[in-house]
Amino acid sequence: MALIGPGILCVFGLSFLWAWVIEKKRHYLLGLAAAPGLFALGVLVQVFGWPPQTQPNAIVSGLFYTTAMLLAAEGILRRSGQRFGLALDVAILAAIMGGLWYFAYVAPNLLARVYIQNFGYGFILLAAALHLTPLMKGRLIDRILFWTLFVFALHFFPRTVMTIGAQAPATAPAFAASLFWHALQLSLAVLGAALAAALLAAALSDMIDDLRHERDIDGLTGVLNRRAFESRAEAILAQDWRSPCALVACDLDGFKQINDRHGHAAGDSVLTAFGEILRRTSRTADLAARLGGEEFAILLPGSTSNGAYLFAERLRVGLSGTRFPFLPAAGRITASFGIAQHQPGETFHQLLARADRGLYQAKAAGRNQTIAAEGDVVSPAPA
Ligand code: GH3
Ligand code: MG
Ligand code: MG
Repeated sequence: MALIGPGILCVFGLSFLWAWVIEKKRHYLLGLAAAPGLFALGVLVQVFGWPPQTQPNAIVSGLFYTTAMLLAAEGILRRSGQRFGLALDVAILAAIMGGLWYFAYVAPNLLARVYIQNFGYGFILLAAALHLTPLMKGRLIDRILFWTLFVFALHFFPRTVMTIGAQAPATAPAFAASLFWHALQLSLAVLGAALAAALLAAALSDMIDDLRHERDIDGLTGVLNRRAFESRAEAILAQDWRSPCALVACDLDGFKQINDRHGHAAGDSVLTAFGEILRRTSRTADLAARLGGEEFAILLPGSTSNGAYLFAERLRVGLSGTRFPFLPAAGRITASFGIAQHQPGETFHQLLARADRGLYQAKAAGRNQTIAAEGDVVSPAPA
């Protein structure tokens, strides 16, 4: 029975180790893999009495427990880009181990050792939880993780006071049979496992988010790719039928020539620069995408043709004003734009086709300009 707790901890440790093997760049997973294993070792040292004498046993198990707690706290913090840091970790370890050594060898006192460890671990985890309060506004899994950690941290205080109070058991067998020991094992099996499960779920969510990002974002320009743009734009058009919405279609001018004259890498650098201009010019609600090659589209929720015209002109002026090292001093790279405002009942593809017709007219009219789709009225003055 005594091995159920360490067994559960080891399963979690192996799960984190497996997650780390899959994604080695997440170093914090290694700390989270080691923490349950070390904690289980601490329990085994106490249960099997190795070393058998009370004092060294208290020091060895205390070292395992304390290192495990610090590794867990660091792992949880580093997942969110925070940390206690090595210096603080060593200082906390030294303070707790110093206290345990004093109350094992100098003034033997089991009660003091129990309080140092349990309150110490409570404070370590509480400090980690307080560092993570920004997570309370995050995703559901981040909020679950925060509260699980917070409750786990807090429970160390009342559990210790309520189960051991002011009188420690006098002998090792009495300690092993005490309410304190059993409550400790139970709370670790339940709350510790809940925390480990929340952490595992959070790590999994991080990986899935990264994969989604890679799936949806065009690597060269940092804007959405065609697939992600189509599905998101269709969802916006389906839901937002009362407020206006406009689409800008864009194609860089003479791009084949840029590639032919200056090389493919130069062409790529133009695409990257245009992606930056797009991201800089877009608001958070806008959807900017590279549809393929040197063709882009931007959906502007809440925008009329007029707003879209001004937006396209900002992009056009932004690109033609950008200097590229491979171009002669007077050289410019330009783009042509077509815009269309969404009409009731129009599908995304119909809207895109209309914006594209504006774009072809802009190309035919000499490039480096913005033309609205037929029927869309635009006044070049700011709306
Ligand atoms: P227009 O002014 O009529 O738009 O002429 P254009 O040369 O821009 O049009 P065209 O569609 O003929 O040329 C597009 C070129 O874009 C052809 C292709 O080699 C190049 N291209 C497509 N994808 C990439 C890419 O990812 N990187 C680079 N460097 N070039 C690309
Ligand atoms: Mg082109
Ligand atoms: Mg093209």
